[in-house]
Amino acid sequence: MATLADRYNLLIDGVAVSTAATIPVKNPATGEIFAQAPAAGEAELERAVAAATRAFPAWRDTPIVDRKAAVKRAAKIIEDHADELAALFTREQGRPTESAKQEVMGAAFWFKATTWLDIPIEITEDTDTRRIEVHHVPLGPVCAIVPWNFPVLLAAWKIAPALVAGNTMVLKPSPFTPLTALRLGELLADCFPAGVLNVIAGGDELGPMMTAHRGFAKITFTGSTATGKRVMEAASKDLKRITLELGGNDAAIVMPDVDVDAIAEQLFHGAFHNTAQVCVATKRLFIHADIYDRLRDRLHQLAKDTPVGDGAEQGNRYGPLQNEPQYRRVLALLDDARANGLTLLEGRPVPKQGYFIPLTLVDNPPDDSRVVAEEAFGPILPLLKFHDIDEVIARANDSDYGLSGAVWCADVEKATAIAHRMDTGTVWINQNLQSTPFTPLAGAKQSGFGQENGVAGLLEFTRSKAVYIPKVPTGATPEAELAAP
Ligand code: NAD
Repeated sequence: MATLADRYNLLIDGVAVSTAATIPVKNPATGEIFAQAPAAGEAELERAVAAATRAFPAWRDTPIVDRKAAVKRAAKIIEDHADELAALFTREQGRPTESAKQEVMGAAFWFKATTWLDIPIEITEDTDTRRIEVHHVPLGPVCAIVPWNFPVLLAAWKIAPALVAGNTMVLKPSPFTPLTALRLGELLADCFPAGVLNVIAGGDELGPMMTAHRGFAKITFTGSTATGKRVMEAASKDLKRITLELGGNDAAIVMPDVDVDAIAEQLFHGAFHNTAQVCVATKRLFIHADIYDRLRDRLHQLAKDTPVGDGAEQGNRYGPLQNEPQYRRVLALLDDARANGLTLLEGRPVPKQGYFIPLTLVDNPPDDSRVVAEEAFGPILPLLKFHDIDEVIARANDSDYGLSGAVWCADVEKATAIAHRMDTGTVWINQNLQSTPFTPLAGAKQSGFGQENGVAGLLEFTRSKAVYIPKVPTGATPEAELAAP
């Protein structure tokens, strides 16, 4: 196993900063506190914002090719430390190490791939008298807040485009998973000029303190819809730009013509990956009545066969719930399901210690039961029987969320027609859990505001600036063209 550091520091203005206050970090597989993370307060936040503000003009004026070169260097450093980061990830997040490493390597790839994107200059007019260019210029210091379910990848989705576009950043991880982000900050300290990337961790009060800070030009936030609304409210005070990637209650629709045996495993892992703590996991599985019993039994067998345990031990496919509040929330949903007489189909028994819950299916509960209507964000998957397409589309779309969806159908043309009727930012056909650095992820309805990834995501870290360039001597512009609205 890779050696883990015993001290963690904030990264502010290019240097490691310790704090008197600390927050305990638990291993969710055991419930034991194994490290103390530094806890930034107002003083550290002020220092970080001041550093990001000071560093901004020079970084903005650094040619984009040099900014991209720095981001590419960061990718290499992450790759070189993938084993160490993955071991730390498993310890604080709970995910099995192999999967943790895949996330770390995915983050490195995202850093690299973001440098392959270009920021366009649009020409909206080019005549004998003038040329109008629309540039996309950086905004300034960015406040980045990430959750605990994908602590490295979701940080990469923010750091890489923000810095390529010429902004500076103060990144805050979740108090439940601060260590990988702090270690990432330490590793990348020399990759960028001092103050360009700052990483601060802290308790529950730090997020609201950051979103209220007038020194930030933009907030990029990933987390729950409830918190997203608070972030939007805070941003409204001084009209900070915002990007919000929020919750989901994603539906997958399985049509009767599928090969049940061929797709069952992929469907299963599309719901339970990361112990079902994935924003775009399948959270409502609609199955056509003709194949319902067969697919339900197949999925139940997979739940009974899939090993769940400490992610640091070889052979476990899934780990614990990441934190105690989330664990209690999923237990409450299970209690509610039992109290309402729903049929629960449990998977393999799980360890008694730590935040473990067996992978559980719910056999055809009513649509208004809590386990269907709410985002569980844990291993409890409702299987829902349907009879016809209009009915299932209406039920799938009957949600305040609209993050992603999936259609499983042997007839791809038919599946595509169904996909176009789903009110979500992403729809997969005969696949799930896919994303690429070149494709925007944009939540519909209350699943988000704005988008991440692709050129569209990159442009969220910029503002438009129209530059009118004359081609005739001053004063020679025709009257009509001077008319402004
Ligand atoms: P959360 O909203 O509780 O916390 C997210 C982050 O916000 C944490 O860093 C937290 O410390 C911080 N925070 C909490 N209150 C804040 C406030 N008032 N102001 C500013 N920051 C604050 O979410 P979570 O429980 O960590 O994450 C799970 C949620 O995230 C799920 O709903 C999931 O669907 C969603 N999620 C969405 C995406 C996406 O891309 N759409 C990706 C991953 C997770």
